[in-house]
This record gives sequence, C-alpha cells and structure tokens, in this order.
Amino acid sequence: EAKNSGRNTIRFYDPKMQEAIKYKVAIETSLKRALKKNELELYYQPKVDDAQTIIALEALVRWNHPERGFIPPSEFIPLAEENGLIIPLGAWVIKTACLQLARWSLEEKTSSLTIAVNLSIKQLQSDNFVATVERILKSTKCPKGKLIFEITETLFMGDVDAIVSKMRNIKEMGVHFSIDDFGTGYSSLSAIKKIPLDELKIDQSFTQDIKSTDDEAVIIHTIIGMAKNLGLRVVAEGVETNAQFEFLKNAGCHVFQGYLFSKPLPFEALKKIL
Ligand code: C2E
Ligand code: MG
Ligand code: MG
Ligand code: MG
Repeated sequence: EAKNSGRNTIRFYDPKMQEAIKYKVAIETSLKRALKKNELELYYQPKVDDAQTIIALEALVRWNHPERGFIPPSEFIPLAEENGLIIPLGAWVIKTACLQLARWSLEEKTSSLTIAVNLSIKQLQSDNFVATVERILKSTKCPKGKLIFEITETLFMGDVDAIVSKMRNIKEMGVHFSIDDFGTGYSSLSAIKKIPLDELKIDQSFTQDIKSTDDEAVIIHTIIGMAKNLGLRVVAEGVETNAQFEFLKNAGCHVFQGYLFSKPLPFEALKKIL
C-alpha cells in the first residue's frame, strides 16, 4: 500500500502547517508574558489639520519581543483576537492611553490633544466592556472628552443592535467613536446611520489611489459628501505625498494622517515635533 500512496492519499502531516501551529502557540505563550512584563509599548501617530497642526494622536501598539524582535500588530492582534488575549491586551492599551491623557492634561503643550485607540470588535462584544471602560476612565482620572475609539466595519458582521447600545453607554462617559478603514468593508449607508459616530476615516487604499483626474476621485468625493451629510468629521489616512494632501484638502477633508506628516513614534520622540 505504501508503494501506491500517491495522488489519492490524504496527508495528515503537513510540516508547514505544523510549523504555523508551533509559531501560533509560541506567540500565544509569549504574548501572555509580554502583557505581564511590559514588553508592549504604545507609539503615537499624529492627526493634523489643513495647516498641518497636530490636533490628535492615534495610539498604535508595538511589541518588542526579546528574541524575535519587533512583531507588527498585523501579526499578533488577529492572534490575540482568536485566543481571547485581546481582552486584557485591549484593556492595557486603553489604560495606557488614559494615563497619558491624564499626564498630558497637566502640560500646556499637550493639554488639548486627544488620543484615538483602536478597538477590536471582540472587545465590544465582551460582556464587561462598558464596565471596564468606566473603571479605567475613573482609575486613571482621564480628562473627559479626550478619548476616541476607532472601530472597523467588521462590527456590522455581528449583532449591531447590541453593539450600538454599548456604544451609547460609552458615549455617555464622554468617549467619541470613529469608523476606521472606511470603504473596505460591507457597511451600507443605512447601517452607518445606525451607529453613533463622530468621525469617519477614509481607508488609506483610497488615498494611495488618488490620481486627481481618475475615477478614484469620484469615490473619495462621494465618501466625503456622505460623511459630511451625516455630520461626521472626515479623516484621510495614509497621506504620503503633497499631491494627495492637496487633493484631499480641496475635496473637503478635515483631518489628515500619514507618513507625509509623521510616522507613528514613541511619545518622547514625538514631543520634539509638538
Ligand atoms: P489602523 O488603525 O488603520 O492604523 C493605520 C496603520 O497604517 C498603522 O499601521 C500605521 O503605522 C500605518 N500608516 C500610517 N500612515 C501611513 C502611511 O502614510 N502609509 C502607509 N503605508 N501606512 C501608514 P500599524 O501600526 O502597523 O497598525 C496596523 C493595524 O493594527 C492598525 O490599523 C489597527 O487596525 C491595528 N492595531 C494597532 N494597534 C492596535 C491596538 O492597540 N488594538 C487593536 N485592536 N488594533 C490595533
Ligand atoms: Mg486606526
Ligand atoms: Mg485605518
Ligand atoms: Mg488598518
């Protein structure tokens, strides 16, 4: 039989898959340790107005693994969502951002800044999330109205009504909501109207496609028009060139973010450009 094991054999052992599972388990174990041992760090990327003045910062988590080096969030956030670690990790991010806000409120240079924190839908779906946010805001003495949560369109794949009700509770605590990576998901206009938003971020893929004479321009104008009609502040992500910045300004965007202004940086480095 062994001789005939050819095209009809099912392979139970796939070394590649085995490697992938090993990697996952290793990352999971070390992510637990990272949370305990403070290997995670928040970097901050500025959001600027049309005069390029920094008006807000987005917190982006970074993991400096002692042996593997820098692991990007695109690699460990999906894993953390899968194994549930996103709940403590996400709470750590919110707490760290709130502590920064409390600290910044004491200094003139930083007192007007707001911080945006990315949320995973798993956090909004978890039972204790509203209470967790309330506890963190209190314990850190976070100044009111300075925290923004960025969520993505994946929220429309779950029980939207349950999530909307949690969002309302959180908004009552003075936290704002932004929809991130807009245009890449499945949300319809009527769905967007249902959720209590303050801001809409146009996904960076649209920004990067801008060639001012093309069809992409129509898409961007349409998104901006819709957002404005809904009373939302419009942010363009992934602005890398002056041409993109000029186009987006003329199209009526309010806020801009991207490498043209600054990469995400540790706060100490960012302080110098504030
Ligand atoms: P995002 O929230 O859409 O963040 C924007 C990503 O684009 C960041 O990548 C940022 O470094 C990058 N970026 C900013 N400006 C430019 C630009 O001009 N050009 C290009 N090519 N890229 C730019 P990063 O930091 O690797 O984060 C990736 C994603 O990981 C984030 O996308 C967010 O969805 C997620 N993430 C990061 N931190 C957290 C967190 O604390 N919690 C959760 N749940 N997700 C997070
Ligand atoms: Mg974001
Ligand atoms: Mg984004
Ligand atoms: Mg993104």
